[in-house]
Amino acid sequence: DTIGADLDRAAAAHAGRDALIDVSSARRWTYSEFLADVELLAAGLLVKGVGRGDRVGMWAPNCPEWVLAQYATAKIGAILVNINPAYRTHELRFVLKQAGVSVLLSAQEFKGSDYAAMIDEARTEAPDLREVVYIGSFGWELMTDRGHRAIAEHPSMVADVQATLNAHDPINIQYTSGTTGFPKGATLSHRNILNNGYFVGELCHYTSADRVCIPVPFYHCFGMVMGNLACTSHGAAIVIAGPAFDAASTLTAVEQERCTSLYGVPTMFIAELALAEFDSFDLSTLRTGIMAGSPCPTEVMKQVIERMGMSEVSICYGMTETSPVSLQTRSEDSIEQRVSTVGAVGPHLEVKIVDPVDDRTLPRGESGELCTRGYSVMLGYWEQLEKTAEAIDGEGWMHTGDIGVMDDLGYVSITGRIKDMVIRGGENVYPREIEEFLYTHPDILDAQVIGVPDAKYGEELMVWIRMKDGAAPLDADAVKAFSAGKLAHYKIPRYVHVVDEFPMTVTGKVRKVEMRERSLDLI
Ligand code: ATP
Ligand code: MG
Repeated sequence: DTIGADLDRAAAAHAGRDALIDVSSARRWTYSEFLADVELLAAGLLVKGVGRGDRVGMWAPNCPEWVLAQYATAKIGAILVNINPAYRTHELRFVLKQAGVSVLLSAQEFKGSDYAAMIDEARTEAPDLREVVYIGSFGWELMTDRGHRAIAEHPSMVADVQATLNAHDPINIQYTSGTTGFPKGATLSHRNILNNGYFVGELCHYTSADRVCIPVPFYHCFGMVMGNLACTSHGAAIVIAGPAFDAASTLTAVEQERCTSLYGVPTMFIAELALAEFDSFDLSTLRTGIMAGSPCPTEVMKQVIERMGMSEVSICYGMTETSPVSLQTRSEDSIEQRVSTVGAVGPHLEVKIVDPVDDRTLPRGESGELCTRGYSVMLGYWEQLEKTAEAIDGEGWMHTGDIGVMDDLGYVSITGRIKDMVIRGGENVYPREIEEFLYTHPDILDAQVIGVPDAKYGEELMVWIRMKDGAAPLDADAVKAFSAGKLAHYKIPRYVHVVDEFPMTVTGKVRKVEMRERSLDLI
């Protein structure tokens, strides 16, 4: 079905129940109020001339208007383009241009950055952009007022457009994090993301009694699909703690709104658990939640279950291109399964592990490239046919670029990325293994291993190291001495480079592409 039709059904079934709550601004919507405001905004966009397939950008931190716009664009078949609020002029210009955004909905400012100034600079090279509407401005009010009047005249105007839509239509462009190269615009349909939100919610056992605190950003599929769509497809309530993550306000929101579920990346849970006043929060309503994005340390998982009461918390694996989730742990899984694997395949999806060289399907227990197939696979990369063909094969399998291994129960562990794999003298080396070994050194805070060109071996290993506070920098001899006898000789990095920070993506992942480029001057 379409996202708009699914919302209509939820609003009919759960009219008086909470749909959306913004704790920091003390605003709240029941399902019938939420649907009404979505329709006003949808009508306002129609009056502006936004039609099916037009790209509407959203550049804002978490706020109720983000959610309203997500459903308003879906109702009229416009394509919502999620723009990361951490982007600056250069990245904004790239997205506006690449996606051909015609109307941009934007925050006025966030964390002291003047969005209007950045938009003015970026739009000189974004010829498709004809209008910017700032959230909370007079222009925004005018847009919804016009929607109001238009609906008063033609009460079925939004429903009429919605009736012409198809579940396979593109509805959303989400840019990948840019960890392995330039961000690509994954183009997703109603069918892709509505089903994914629904099945994630099913595995969390959501009902209309659930209240889900979502401190992860909406521009990312974690917030907008695993959060918002999982909620509305089950009649559950979306709880926004505030525009940006803050540990104390998140727990305040959980307590005040009696949330049953809490989302986050592992570092968010670590920050919440570390609060001095942690024990003063009443978190007794929490039952479940989702932790995703990066591996979760065992101790953190234990504390999330024991001290936060999230006994059913799940771990998800996914990527922007697959709506995003394809693997998820189940509510009854052991702590061990929730820390050493990313779960088993989700309903109506397929996964397999293949040999990265000859594409042969590998038996369980063997490492190879993880591939997924099913309703969740994106339509393609926006205006990048060649890249799409590289990612999705003729049989519909999405090649994730991640290296994984599947156990006897079908649970998958992720062990690295193909693009990070180093081939040294014919041996395949997975950097993650070396990094995990180096973390055991008492002076090393973080280590990232890459391959650099080498005349003799094809590639050689280089490690970039962040030292702990006060520790003396290590050199190649020190690393060699520490590794000798513990790592195979071909896995011991030849080059060592100590840094204060790694190059990072705006979503907080280490950019090894950039490390590889910069390393050419270091060898
Ligand atoms: P790009 O595709 O632009 O290089 P990206 O792949 O980092 O960037 P995303 O789509 O945001 O962009 O992230 C998906 C990737 O995140 C997966 O391919 C995988 O490498 C990693 N990932 C996702 N979930 C998990 C998890 N639970 N544990 C470990 N890694 C994960
Ligand atoms: Mg990727």
